[in-house]
Order: sequence, then structure tokens, then C-alpha cells
Amino acid sequence: MYNVRICSSISGYETEELIKMFVPKGNYEITEDGALDNNQSFSVVFENERISLPIESFYYRGRKPENIKELKNAIKRGIYDAFGKSCGKELPWGILTGVKPVKIVRELYEKGNSYDEISLYMKEYYRLSDEKTELLITTLKNQYLQSCVRSENNVGVYLGIPFCPTRCVYCSFTSNVAKPGAIEAYLEALYKEIEAVSSSMREAGMFTESFYIGGGTPTSLSAGQLDELLDRIFTNFDLSRCEEFTVEAGRPDTITPEKLAVIRRHGIRRISINPQSMNAKTLEIIGRLHSPEQIIEAYRMAGEAGIEIINMDLIAGLPGETPEDFRNTLAAVLDMAPENITVHTLAVKRASRLREDDEEYNYRETMKLAEMVEYSGKVLKERGYEPYYLYRQKYMVGNLENIGYCRKGTECLYNIKTMDERQTMIALGAGGISKRYYPEENRIERAANVSNYEIYIERIDEMIQRKNQLLFAKHPQKDI
Ligand code: SF4
Repeated sequence: MYNVRICSSISGYETEELIKMFVPKGNYEITEDGALDNNQSFSVVFENERISLPIESFYYRGRKPENIKELKNAIKRGIYDAFGKSCGKELPWGILTGVKPVKIVRELYEKGNSYDEISLYMKEYYRLSDEKTELLITTLKNQYLQSCVRSENNVGVYLGIPFCPTRCVYCSFTSNVAKPGAIEAYLEALYKEIEAVSSSMREAGMFTESFYIGGGTPTSLSAGQLDELLDRIFTNFDLSRCEEFTVEAGRPDTITPEKLAVIRRHGIRRISINPQSMNAKTLEIIGRLHSPEQIIEAYRMAGEAGIEIINMDLIAGLPGETPEDFRNTLAAVLDMAPENITVHTLAVKRASRLREDDEEYNYRETMKLAEMVEYSGKVLKERGYEPYYLYRQKYMVGNLENIGYCRKGTECLYNIKTMDERQTMIALGAGGISKRYYPEENRIERAANVSNYEIYIERIDEMIQRKNQLLFAKHPQKDI
């Protein structure tokens, strides 16, 4: 049992998340120890041996912290080093808990630091491994031009279809198995939001730079419903500056030649087909109703329909999967040769069935997962794919990351801009979170649509009003 004595103003979620990466829940105790000022020590008791850690030893390059964030990071470095030594373990991401680490290296780069300086800083300050440091810098280089702001009037638009044929065991998204008539009622509310938002955007002189239809599974709609939805979007939004339009088809069993023809008829070149695994047994365990063969067939149909850029999502760390299963999945996907491959690390979130059934899943799977992630990075590089965007999530198994790989020139602009957080993003539909970016202050404010689609339908006028206040009001409100 480990006992960490730490001051009350510093302890909390982030410290505990870090400790949890070294020892499972129940094997440590955090004791609050009054106030800590910059001259005090904090201590860790390892198996009854009390180790006092003078906070000054963890100051970055001996510099006294200037604010609470720096002080917290010094303590996290102390905890990291002490637990690392005691457990004989290093964490690839060191003390970094943020979800958008590429933003940190971009900011350092834009302040005039060289890649070597950034690399040293990330290793010393955040205790990042050589591999993750290199991954961040490569990702920054691959996305840098795309991430630059073209015009402050440009925005990204997301539209969510919260329906799927079944609910996957790890799912924590806004996803529902539709009741009869639910999709029609949802689309009616969505059309109202499309009309209101597109008209306000025109008045405000905002242009759509990228448009992304996600979910759920947008191809849960029938070909006729999809056709009408796309007609409404193309009629209402000014897409004259739109550089990219993506439909996340998602589940292979919802993809048909008719729906692909509808997508192409609207000039859309980019879709996503998300197998997650090419192992039949895993697909069954996670709650999918399709086979690996249906994935290959959906991919073939998309190519035949003239879709030019296809992304495929995979998940490392799915229940019951061995590194060999994952290697087989990757090989099967590489055989199809999609333009983009996104490797997710399973995030076992509180809202998922998997988390309810198995609390310790995250901790147990760490080593196996790190092997899968490392393997995918190596193989994808050999096969000509480059990492171009990256994000992490809370509750991610092994505290790892999701990485979007692409063949050069097929980067997804929407993904880059979403992670970059220097552009206003407007989200329509249940569960969509709109973000307004204020360039002068380099900050964002959010307004969320409710995630329950039935409440969304009921309160559609309020959803529109929330967005109006956030995005189009002359004197912006605080978070609503
Ligand atoms: S396909 Fe995606 S959104 Fe739908 S249930 Fe599975 S994880 Fe959730």
C-alpha cells in the first residue's frame, strides 16, 4: 500500500490519475496534508518507508513555479519519479494528462523554439518518452500548414446523427437504436436547426470551411432520408469556401450502393468506414451485427461508387483481443489500402457497458495495449502512412492516444481544426458541442445541445437559441 501525503490545494483528480497509472485503485491512499507553499516537501510512504520529496528538486531547471499550474506540474514530476522508481515503470506520456498535446508543441514552435528545443523541453518538463516526443513533432510537421488560419470568418460545421443499428459495448457517444418514427422526427428538428443556423451564419458573414456528418452512424438513415438531408444542407449553407465534406458512414452493415450513390451525387469525396476489428469473434463481443467480409464488401462498394478518400477506424485494446488479433486486423485493413487509418486506443468511459462490468479493465490492459500501439505506428510508417492528428482521452486504456494516419495529401482538415482549437466549430444535432473561438484572447467558449435525441426534438427552439447566444451575439455570453 502506498500513501501519498500531499497538500489539499494540490491533490485531486490529476494527481490521482497519474498515480493510477502506476498502481491499481485500492493500493494507494492520498492523504491531505494542510497547505503546501513553495518551500515545503511532500511525501510518499512506500511500504512503510516514508520518502520525503523536497519540492525544489522538481522545479523545472531550478526555477520557482510562477503559478499553481507550474507548482502542480512540479509535484507531478515528483510523484512520477518516485513511483517510477518504486514500480520500475515509465509512462510514455510522462506527467502529461491533457487531451490535445499537439497544441503544446505548436505553441512552443510558434514562440520561435526549434524542434530540438521543443523536444528537450517535452522530455524534461513533462517526462515524455523519446517516442512520444518524436510522434508529437512529426504530427505537428505533418499538419502545420493545414492548421493555419485561412480566414477568421471560416468555421467548421459538424452535424450528428445519433442512431446506430446496435450499441457497441464500449460506446459512450450519443447513440441510440431508433424506435419506429424516431429518425423522421429527429430529422424534422434537425432541418429547423439547419435553417436557423445557416441563415444566422450568412448574416454574420461566416463561411463553412469543412463540413462533417458524424454520429452515431449517419448511414443508419435510408437512402431517401440521406438524400433529403444532404439536399437541405447544400441548399441552406453557403459552401462556396468549403474545402472538405465528410460523411462518416461508420457501420459497414448500413452502407449500400444506393446511399453511396446519394453521397457521390452531392459531390462528396470522403467517407469513413469503421471496422474497429477484422476479427469476427471480437465484432460479436463488442455488439456489432456484421462480419469482417461485410467490411471488405462495403469498402469495395465505396471504391466502385467513386469515393476517393476513405478513412478506416481501428481500436486497439478491444475486449478479448490479443496483440496477434490486432496485428491481423491491421494487416487486413492495409490490404484494402484506405487513404486514412485512425488507430484508437480503447477508452473505457463511465457511460459504457464495459466499464460497468469491469472496473479494472484500464489498468490490466496497459502493457498489451502499448505493444499494439507501438506496432501500428511502426507498420503504418513502413507502409507510407504519416501521423497527422492526435488526441488523448480521459479513461483511455493505458493512458495512450488516438492517432490519425494518412497518405500525404489526404489529411482530414476537419479533424485537424477540431484538435487545434483555433477556429469556431458549429455543431448541429443531439449532443453537438459548438465552440466559439476568440482569437484576441486565444480561448474558446462552448454551448452544448442536449444529448438525448427525444429531448433535443422537444427543445429544438432552445438549442437554436443557445447557439445564437454563443455564436452570433455581438456581446458574447459566458458558458451556457
Ligand atoms: S458505432 Fe460508434 S456511435 Fe454507434 S454504438 Fe458503436 S461506438 Fe457507439
